[in-house]
Amino acid sequence: MLDTALKLLNRIEENGFKAYIVGGFVRDYLLGIDSLDVDICTDARPKDIRDIFQDACLPKEEYGSVTVNIKNIRFEITTFRKEYTYYQHRKPLEFEYIDDLREDLKRRDFLINTLCMDKDGVILDFFDGKKDLDERIIHTVGDSFLKFSEDAFRILRAVRIATVLNFQLSEEVKLAIFRTKHLLKEISYERKKEELDKIFSSVYADYGIHLLLELGLDQELELSKLKDVILLDDLVGIWAQLDVVGIYPFTNNEKSLIKNIQTVLRLNNLNHRVLYQYGLYVNSLAAQLKGISKKDVSYQYNQLPIKSRNEIAVDGLEIAQILGRTPGKYIRDILDDLENKILDLELVNDHQVLLDYIDEHYGSTQ
Ligand code: ATP
Ligand code: MG
Repeated sequence: MLDTALKLLNRIEENGFKAYIVGGFVRDYLLGIDSLDVDICTDARPKDIRDIFQDACLPKEEYGSVTVNIKNIRFEITTFRKEYTYYQHRKPLEFEYIDDLREDLKRRDFLINTLCMDKDGVILDFFDGKKDLDERIIHTVGDSFLKFSEDAFRILRAVRIATVLNFQLSEEVKLAIFRTKHLLKEISYERKKEELDKIFSSVYADYGIHLLLELGLDQELELSKLKDVILLDDLVGIWAQLDVVGIYPFTNNEKSLIKNIQTVLRLNNLNHRVLYQYGLYVNSLAAQLKGISKKDVSYQYNQLPIKSRNEIAVDGLEIAQILGRTPGKYIRDILDDLENKILDLELVNDHQVLLDYIDEHYGSTQ
């Protein structure tokens, strides 16, 4: 990945521009962590970049950024710039292209995100970002209060990056978050959820939750149940406890899982009917939250004679045939009866046994 990135820098430089890797990739590289994508900053304008990478360019160009995909790596190439007037503490409304790397680094959020790498793999450290990396601490570039007031999303980035890397937040950052946290109301729930997902799925999620509570962000984020959350290695299981389906965005599938988890929390997860109706996944999550062993739940689940209705050893057509009737609503009633009796172990789920039962109980009613 580094090789491909350095080649890309060289290609931009061959065309007469300056280009550096910046931000997360350099930070994570120095920490020995693999990155998913690479941010590049350059004095080349987006149209220059498109000319250079005619073969690889995507049409996406937002706020002076061009995305290039090479060997399944996503490179986000952004022209050096200075930002002005932030709209409602979110994205800057105006910016100006500039030619100076140092000036570009000043608009960035944290010192650890100002580290750069040049085309030869040499690290450039204008703002002592390396020192913070070594000391495992997060400081803003310049005044923290100003940084968070300009763009409140940086508050969540600070907590997320501190969580994922298991870093401290500097006292100045914490104080500034206290003073600006009300601005989080301006940020969309979608973006807030993306950062929260990263916090909750981190190995250090407990630290992340501790930070959110310590800074009083649970209130600003409308997560009143955060303090009672039990950590699970499943995001849906965490969101189910937070009970914010009406506030944060979820897919229909997630919504229905969350509803089922919440229902099953009130039921007995070792009961065969509950296991059958809600399935292993939902019951295992609920069991974990209640301190019931997952192994016991799996064992009981595997004891079920059928796991779903289509495992019943006869189908609708066979029922109609044996009764000599045309198919109709009565088939569903018979399948309901079979399902109940099989689950309660009153009938064995065997083709012949079921046919005999149907003949005996429903045949004579003809
Ligand atoms: P990761 O990619 O692991 O999420 P990252 O720090 O690379 O972390 P990106 O969103 O890829 O995050 O941003 C790339 C760089 O752009 C950051 O390292 C930082 O220098 C700068 N940056 C991103 N978001 C902001 C922001 N809201 N305010 C100021 N600078 C930002
Ligand atoms: Mg990045």
